[in-house]
Amino acid sequence: MIAVLKPNATQEQTDNLTKWLESRGLSVHISKGETMTVVGLIGDTSKIDSELLEGLEMVESVKRISEPFKSANRKFHPDDSIIDIGGLKIGGPHFQLIAGPCSVESLEQILTITKSVQASGAAILRGGTFKPRTSPYDFQGLRADGVELLLEAKKQTGMPIITEIMNANHLPMFENVDIIQVGARNMQNFELLKELGMSKKPILLKRGLANTINELLMSAEYIMAGGNHNIILCERGIRTFETYTRNTLDLSAIPVLRELTHLPIVVDPSHALGVARFIQPMAMAATAALAHGLMIEVHNDPANALCDGAQSLTPEQFAELSKKVRRIREVASE
Ligand code: PEP
Ligand code: MN
Repeated sequence: MIAVLKPNATQEQTDNLTKWLESRGLSVHISKGETMTVVGLIGDTSKIDSELLEGLEMVESVKRISEPFKSANRKFHPDDSIIDIGGLKIGGPHFQLIAGPCSVESLEQILTITKSVQASGAAILRGGTFKPRTSPYDFQGLRADGVELLLEAKKQTGMPIITEIMNANHLPMFENVDIIQVGARNMQNFELLKELGMSKKPILLKRGLANTINELLMSAEYIMAGGNHNIILCERGIRTFETYTRNTLDLSAIPVLRELTHLPIVVDPSHALGVARFIQPMAMAATAALAHGLMIEVHNDPANALCDGAQSLTPEQFAELSKKVRRIREVASE
């Protein structure tokens, strides 16, 4: 349930309302927008008489929310959420390019790629360190050493870094990581999501291979229920009957999510398509559909990459993609 307050509602009235609702066993989430204040009621709202609430002087209207996700719901929070990554913003009018290799392989590799993607307009550096591989015999990532190499790249270039977590016990190692990624395979690892809810770090939550938009939002809700509202959603392709591409990029998730939620949406065409030459057109399409960012895999030597070489762009291909995406951003304004 949400209550929209009248524009002239005072802070004291809002505080009294909050206390009263909390005394009824509900959690209250206040969202102050530019034009209105929305009070979100989370919990068993059957205890609340909505007519009584609507009759209060400072309340303009009361709505019951039918969707199972509350904190992630745009009705709760009409303005776009803008996530702050050490001063860099993503969401609302702020669009960012995230780029880097599938996996961190060596200091030389990560520094070479970091400098090239930064020069081409990427604002955030990605690099897998704990890799969720289908086969246990495949490269598993450099793990803690990989995180150290990413931190060195950050130190040398000032780029914020994102890397994937697979186990909540690893959280201390992620202390200086700017954005923690939850990979597609862990989208419904609810214990991990609950732990991340207790952290304040920005989280990039990827849609699972076979998960619906509703399930993605419910996973975001798990993190938000713990108090962490710094969430970026990521569409990275879903499994369909089509086998020509690695997955099927669900571009329709962008407008649907923009309507349902205030959280920013990043698109990862690399893991969706799986083939380098298909990445640029889909990156452009996602930009035109008003994604808030793109995540692109880039490698200085794709043929010899330890992971996902086939879908990795060369630094030159990334530079071209970045240029085209910038031009699309100019016309596809908000
Ligand atoms: C990744 O981004 O490194 C990754 C493994 O992606 P996904 O979880 O989408 O497969
Ligand atoms: Mn990859």
